[in-house]
Amino acid sequence: MPVETWRWQKVEDESRWVFAAYNFLEIRTPVLEHTDLFARSVGVDTDIVTKEMYTFQDRDNDLLTLRPEATASVVRAYIEHSLYNEGGVHKLYYMGPMFRRERPQKGRYRQFSQIGAEVLGSDHPAIDAEVLEMLVLLLERLGLKDFALLINSVGCPACRHEYLKKLGQALDNVKGNMCEDCRRRAGTNPLRVFDCKVEADQPIIEKLPHILDYLCPECLQHFESVKAELGQREIKFAIEPRLVRGLDYYTRTTFEITSGALGAQNALLGGGRYDGLSEMLGGPPTPGFGFAIGEDRLVLAVEQAAHFKPEPIAAFIVWMSHEALLPAVTLARELRRQNMSAEILYDAMKMKKSMGLASKFNARFAIIIGENELASGRYQVKDMGTGQQEEVEISRVAAYLSDALKKL
Ligand code: AMP
Repeated sequence: MPVETWRWQKVEDESRWVFAAYNFLEIRTPVLEHTDLFARSVGVDTDIVTKEMYTFQDRDNDLLTLRPEATASVVRAYIEHSLYNEGGVHKLYYMGPMFRRERPQKGRYRQFSQIGAEVLGSDHPAIDAEVLEMLVLLLERLGLKDFALLINSVGCPACRHEYLKKLGQALDNVKGNMCEDCRRRAGTNPLRVFDCKVEADQPIIEKLPHILDYLCPECLQHFESVKAELGQREIKFAIEPRLVRGLDYYTRTTFEITSGALGAQNALLGGGRYDGLSEMLGGPPTPGFGFAIGEDRLVLAVEQAAHFKPEPIAAFIVWMSHEALLPAVTLARELRRQNMSAEILYDAMKMKKSMGLASKFNARFAIIIGENELASGRYQVKDMGTGQQEEVEISRVAAYLSDALKKL
């Protein structure tokens, strides 16, 4: 609703500003994709694909899905449009609605919005650190202070192979005491056990081996470099060895930022590296790194920080006689053409009601035009903040207002 949209716009404006500062360009992908895209990338054993996707059969029997996330779509578009032929690194960002059939609660919706970015074409650890630096800048610009960055590495297929064997063995001994989902995952995709949210399973999961202890030398080196780069950029972080992030395509770095301003659903954003995703989707080897911010949650957190105010309207124009209407319309047009917002209403009303509306619209100035003003050639300009009123020559009203607004 309009009472909250301005906060969404603020969050989006700041995001666009920060993305531009880091040379990211916007990509807009469709809301509908072939179901297969998500099954192949997000993974058939993930909660998203097994339980949460909105999927339907189209008239020609194609299976289509309302996108549950956008990274797969971005990589699909990158492959389909052969962006790799241009060489170099592609930095892309997106914003828009995503759909997951989750149990709705505060901060968790079935249609929600994400603001995300992807860097395709480099596996350099500095990319991971720079993107995290960008996120910290965005959150700071939005006035958020109480947030924490958690990082982990989930290795590559080579080191994960060894680890999954160990994890599988450990699970064999305990899975009998775990939830049904975990018993299934133990056989099909043991890493997904870490996504389990069942309270009773948590002490068991706590004791399972961690992938960080099994990283191959290359992945370990990458992780060490990411940490060093974060240190150089003065970014605080904590290591969370359980952070595997619910989607199969991640390799090496995974991360999440949580916010103290949110309740139970405190994950503000998450992401990581996905060096194998392009190949999984039939493209050339293309390392990638990206994140998605939950915009609904970011807006909630910004609201808590109470840092912003809605943009007030510059002028409310009050006309007091029939003869004053045309001059009022002319002034409103002139102000708007000179980049100042203005409101004018067309039903005749008493002065008191007009001034009440000027306050309601949160106008910075009220401009009063009546018979006396027309006769003297000077309009009354009232500063709604201080209550002070001045007479200003008609031809100078726009310039006067423009100067006064700059001083506020
Ligand atoms: P994911 O795409 O699962 O990595 O999620 C990235 C971010 O999107 C999360 O950290 C949340 O902030 C947000 N998010 C995920 N699912 C939902 C949902 N159902 N409702 C609102 N926000 C969500």
